[in-house]
Amino acid sequence: MSNPTGLTFFRVLPVLAVLFAAAVAHGQQASGQPPGLPGLTIMLKPGGLNAEGNPAFIDLTTQVSGLNFAAGEPFLRVPAQFAGVPGVAYDASTVEVQDAQGNVPITTKVDDPDEGGFIYFRRISTERATEGTVTATYRAPIQMVVPKLGAGPPFDLRAQGGGFSGAGNTFILMPDTSQPFMISINWELGALKPGSIGVSSFGQGNTQSPGPVDRIIASYFMAGPIGQYPADTTDAKFSGYWIGSPKFDARDILQWSEEAYGFISAYFEDTDPPAYRVLMRGNPYPGGGGAALMSSFLVSYPDDQEDGHSLRETIAHETVHNWVSSIAGPPGSSSWYSEGMTVALTRRILLRSGLFSPQEFLDSVNDSALSYYTNALNTTPNAEIAAGFWRDTRIRSLPYSRGPMYFADVDAAVRQKSGGQRSLDDLARTFNERREAGEEVSGDTWRELVMAELGEAGGKGLDDMLAGKLIIPPSDAFGPCFAREESQVRRFELGFTRESLFDEPRVVNGLVAGSEAEKAGIREGDTILQPVPLEEAQSDPEKTLKLQLSRDGKTFDVEYLPRGETVTTYLWQRVAGVPETACAL
Ligand SMILES: [Zn+2]
Repeated sequence: MSNPTGLTFFRVLPVLAVLFAAAVAHGQQASGQPPGLPGLTIMLKPGGLNAEGNPAFIDLTTQVSGLNFAAGEPFLRVPAQFAGVPGVAYDASTVEVQDAQGNVPITTKVDDPDEGGFIYFRRISTERATEGTVTATYRAPIQMVVPKLGAGPPFDLRAQGGGFSGAGNTFILMPDTSQPFMISINWELGALKPGSIGVSSFGQGNTQSPGPVDRIIASYFMAGPIGQYPADTTDAKFSGYWIGSPKFDARDILQWSEEAYGFISAYFEDTDPPAYRVLMRGNPYPGGGGAALMSSFLVSYPDDQEDGHSLRETIAHETVHNWVSSIAGPPGSSSWYSEGMTVALTRRILLRSGLFSPQEFLDSVNDSALSYYTNALNTTPNAEIAAGFWRDTRIRSLPYSRGPMYFADVDAAVRQKSGGQRSLDDLARTFNERREAGEEVSGDTWRELVMAELGEAGGKGLDDMLAGKLIIPPSDAFGPCFAREESQVRRFELGFTRESLFDEPRVVNGLVAGSEAEKAGIREGDTILQPVPLEEAQSDPEKTLKLQLSRDGKTFDVEYLPRGETVTTYLWQRVAGVPETACAL
């Protein structure tokens, strides 16, 4: 049995890059914008400091100049929900809009919910035509939203460490149009502690750059007495920021991240990548995650986490997303490429660059293998992934576990057919070049590339993966240092329904008789008091779940191993005698 390290709590948002590929692809362009763009200015002013010095709200203005809006049309919007995270429920009583004629009467309407939970909008319409500069003034309350599954995207507005952080998609009203603006981000931080700074995916301090408003959705915002790396971030191509006081050395992990960023941009032969930012925040609950954003990413971790090293794969994963973002297609169902390729390339680049040891690479491979082969839903067809993505971690994890097994299989076949002359690297780079050239890349783009390498077998392999057929890469798929072995491993089994974990309130139902959950004393109808992240437990057969329960007014803890029947699992082992220097493909 391997010793999986449970590094798999990165669970990002395919939807971001799907919806905002154009915005995310290459960050800001400092020059060459067409003249006469309408102006969009977002001003953020945190206030209402409580006894701990944390702001209770952000006063915002969204100002649009050089663009008039017609009567009855939606002209401002904010996601009502984005990747399962609710946006602020603004309405006519909380948003005041002014233009050259004075008060602008407004109405709000929420789109029909997206069943998959990916994104739908709350839209504000003007009851009369606007004239001149339009200014919306509103207040975003800062309330922590604990993700239902404990590891949702860390987008919610949150106060901590004397400041706040959150993604633009949860609290900023933006014009309801896809046209480009000259976007200004302005901070007013007078209410925060001296020395406080504001930073966003657009840059540090006040910024101005042209682009579509979707960039605001794909941006993170953080302000307060926050830490930064390097000490002087002026003109830095790579920088990192953290809010609060992590228990690990944030500078140390950011220095590692900068090194990884260098190797990853070199892998994609990107000689002049845009300035790149890492934003970090702790969670007051046992879960973490990452989210790739515009020229930046967010990484979160449990507040009490002492091991910064365990964030390395998450950080490198999100960095790879700067080049491997989502492809055309419904969110979730196109993740086999964006997530599968990202997982496959991340550990490959880290091993090659020496930032991962062969053992760390092996642990990463076996994390994927354990998550995949012990997943009771591992033959779910790709087309069914979108619907279950935010409801069931067994579905949500498939692109991250089946995806890299598929790409390892392709890699082995390409290396074999070309006598070692070609590999997955060639296909990944060509795919990226076509995206960079402006092509709308899709599953068909990949089909074309893989069939050019492998002929009909390439097309069949892709079809099999999409149909949910179990993929078992050849023994040497991960290089000469590792060989495949069969093991019997107990399947992941929660012991009650998934819905029990994300219903409000969380109540145990569908308890499986004879399950480990039942043996541990969990009973039908028990209330689960805290969110329960499942990702790590899914890839680590020895990882127990800790539940805080309440029954008949009494609160108690239960710990159990969420495993059921055994299943044949394919894991890789280190081949004795092959030197470490020969391991990297
Ligand atoms: Zn990802």
